[in-house]
Amino acid sequence: MAWKTLDDMDMVGKCVLVRVDINVPVDHGEVTDATRIERIVPTVEDILQKGGKPILVAHFGRPKGKVVLEMSLRVVLKALEKALGHSVVFVETLEALEARTEEQRGAEVLLLENIRFHAGEEKNDPAFAKRLAGLADIYVNDAFSAAHRAHASTEGVARLLPSCAGRLMQTELEALEAALGKPKRPVVAVVGGAKVSTKLELLGNLVGRVDHLVIGGGMANTFLAAQGIDVGKSLCEHEMADTARGILAKAATAGCEIILPEDVVVAREFKAGAASEVVPATECPADAMILDAGPKSVARIITAFEGAKTLIWNGPLGAFEIEPFDAATNAAAAKAAELSEHGLISVAGGGDTVAALNKAGAAEKFTYISTAGGAFLEWMEGKVLPGVAALEAGDCEPAVA
Ligand code: ADP
Ligand code: MG
Repeated sequence: MAWKTLDDMDMVGKCVLVRVDINVPVDHGEVTDATRIERIVPTVEDILQKGGKPILVAHFGRPKGKVVLEMSLRVVLKALEKALGHSVVFVETLEALEARTEEQRGAEVLLLENIRFHAGEEKNDPAFAKRLAGLADIYVNDAFSAAHRAHASTEGVARLLPSCAGRLMQTELEALEAALGKPKRPVVAVVGGAKVSTKLELLGNLVGRVDHLVIGGGMANTFLAAQGIDVGKSLCEHEMADTARGILAKAATAGCEIILPEDVVVAREFKAGAASEVVPATECPADAMILDAGPKSVARIITAFEGAKTLIWNGPLGAFEIEPFDAATNAAAAKAAELSEHGLISVAGGGDTVAALNKAGAAEKFTYISTAGGAFLEWMEGKVLPGVAALEAGDCEPAVA
């Protein structure tokens, strides 16, 4: 790995600017899910342990460069202190932080107000990045989920200070590297979800890198239709037919096996408990919708999983929110979870995917579940994430005492 970790840094007595993602859901002033806050604890603990003085920098909501008091980060303070088991000083403005002497700056764990209150943040304004760099001796990025954005606190400042990845960033990058960078083969990828159009780049990148690609969910309908199959009233992007055929051709050239549903679950209505039946994928009735993969398809997917050393998954295989159309996703997820206990490296990400794997009770057994959303998808698309690239730039040598 081209970036440094906390282990490479000497932090004794140093102010450490730590970019974290604690953009948690809040309802009536209470944090309703503290997962993101809990995930940064190892990084803060390690910095303290190493004698560093952490200054936490984060965004909250989308204030668009202006002070919007409803989007104050103060709302997470209590949950943050609870997770850390440590008091945290909330600093309302950058000026107040700058006015602190170096001594005062480091006396406690500090949390700076919403960094997106500053217009320079999302613009990655060099002067603003310089101001941030002026606050500390070392920069730690622990916000993988914000790494696809080139903002001052995720990218600009990394180029101005000795920098490294925090523990969460490190874990995420190592898991992703194991799944797609230098994976153990064979690799199976599952791409499901609603639409081909939202996952084109992802499909394009994966066919060149994985051995088997399972296409499921609504987007499988587009591929079936592109092969001349009538998909009735199913969700289908007919205008993407050429694109879908292009992906199939690319896969054939690359030696990537495409696994499309051979049987499907169809229904006339999209609602819980709607009457449904299993039909061959080529025989969707004209007045019905394909809402899930059928049992033969699931068996085929499971065989692919059994032969694989690495699995990477984004997108449910069916309309999993509504029973019984969660069956294929649940069965495949359960198998992936079981195989993960016997050496399969399994990595999954995506908002609905994480929800579906949780619903299936399988998420905990996966090797790694990314909660990063957009950053995870961009990474799967093969894009360079600016926040990671800046850590890799290596312009700055580690601060050695
Ligand atoms: P993620 O958020 O994990 O990236 P997506 O947003 O791409 O996943 O896809 C999830 C959505 O796809 C779900 O809302 C699910 O209901 C929908 N979906 C999956 N299969 C079908 C289908 N056959 N017909 C209609 N919608 C589907
Ligand atoms: Mg989604």
